[in-house]
Amino acid sequence: MKYYDRLIFELSSEGKQGYSLPRNRYPEAEPLPAGLLRAEKPALPEVSEIDVVRHYTNLSQMNFGVDTGFYPLGSCTMKYNPKINEEIAAMPGFAALHPLQPEETVRGAKAVYEGLEKALSAVTGMKAFTFEPCAGAHGELTGLMIIRNYHIRRGDLARTKVIVPDSAHGTNPASAAVCGLEIVEVKSLSDGRIDVEALKPLLGPDIAGIMMTNPNTLGLFETEIREIASLVHGCGGLLYYDGANMNPLIGKVRPGDMGFDVMHLNLHKSFSTPHGGGGPGSGPVGVCETLRESLKTFGKVSGFQGNFAVMLRAYAYLLSLGKEYVKWVGPLSVLGANYIKESLKDVYELPIEGVCKHEFVFDGLKDKSTGVTTLNVAKRLLDYGFHAPTIYFPLLFHESIMIEPTETESKETLDEFISVMRKIALEAIENPESLMTAPHNTPVRKLDETTAARRPVLKYSDLIAVKN
Ligand SMILES: *Cc1c(COP(=O)(O)O)cnc(C)c1O
Repeated sequence: MKYYDRLIFELSSEGKQGYSLPRNRYPEAEPLPAGLLRAEKPALPEVSEIDVVRHYTNLSQMNFGVDTGFYPLGSCTMKYNPKINEEIAAMPGFAALHPLQPEETVRGAKAVYEGLEKALSAVTGMKAFTFEPCAGAHGELTGLMIIRNYHIRRGDLARTKVIVPDSAHGTNPASAAVCGLEIVEVKSLSDGRIDVEALKPLLGPDIAGIMMTNPNTLGLFETEIREIASLVHGCGGLLYYDGANMNPLIGKVRPGDMGFDVMHLNLHKSFSTPHGGGGPGSGPVGVCETLRESLKTFGKVSGFQGNFAVMLRAYAYLLSLGKEYVKWVGPLSVLGANYIKESLKDVYELPIEGVCKHEFVFDGLKDKSTGVTTLNVAKRLLDYGFHAPTIYFPLLFHESIMIEPTETESKETLDEFISVMRKIALEAIENPESLMTAPHNTPVRKLDETTAARRPVLKYSDLIAVKN
């Protein structure tokens, strides 16, 4: 065990000090009422500054991030985000703003909101945005509330169902349920796209709308989108676009032109801002002209104006690429995904042939006789310094491996990844045992997932119990 494997509490010894507070320059305040004072000192660790610095620096190196290596996590867009966006978000004039400041002192921030709304409208074909939602799923809920209110305000109370394809991201049906809508599933064809013939009989006066991702979670463009839009509109429903993964379309195709009425974007995926670990997100919702007014009438979904720093990064990202270079985001992310797919499909099972957009799905290794699973492949990748792709999603296949390289990786990195994936496929045949016990050289080895789920170690006292 390395000394930094110990908790900061275990490094503590009485009397050690890492920080001294500035001398009090203010007069003694009234003492707090005795009932509000704690009887004992809080049990905080007592450590020196160097202990703290080493502890957290070492912990940070046990983590994997997009700044440490390639992170091909499908449906998540873990791309490199330029550092200038961080610098701009950290500028004191922005970072120290308070949401209750007088309006005339926040003109700069207002200009950022207005500029970003204009840029996102240009990219999506929507007419207005709200920046309140703080995540993609939060945006979905907001968008569905807008759709539901639109029907209710027209006195059309029977529209309580929403159609969701079987390939949808899990948040789609979840948001619909939270919004009080009933979910109707529409099946995909064997080519991974929505079955238009199966959609037709579902449409009627009880349909509030349809939620779609295009390209869908298999990375496939829904080529029948025009017909789907006219069918759904024809029955009086609206089209919701899950724009969490906008990379492949930016500067090329606009959801507004495909016939979508409401959508959200994940600024923390497609428009800079590193994410993962539950960090701050932003899921702005855009609407078409008919729904512009409804943005103002349906109330508030967050305290103020959402996570401003995420918007600053998105705006900095768009302005630094500019109109000319933003057009490269889509083609490069699509090229990278197809390059990996074509380079590996002889050793990994590609269930749906053809050109993909920014991501694609393998159904495990091609050679199914070795007993090596998608989980084994994912764990082994960690040994070679790559983050695992998304696994066992989408649910359409048993052994899904969902790969998204993003537009920010070089050909050299993609080639290295391809060669490691091929090496693993060979190991699966030659030495399957070693794959099944991977990872071998990560800070934490293969976890016992059943125990981790049944008896999770979430508190210091749990850990002490496990250690003893
Ligand atoms: C990530 C994602 C979401 C959810 O976004 P969160 O910010 O995690 O709530 C929804 N749909 C798709 C397609 C996604 O990839």
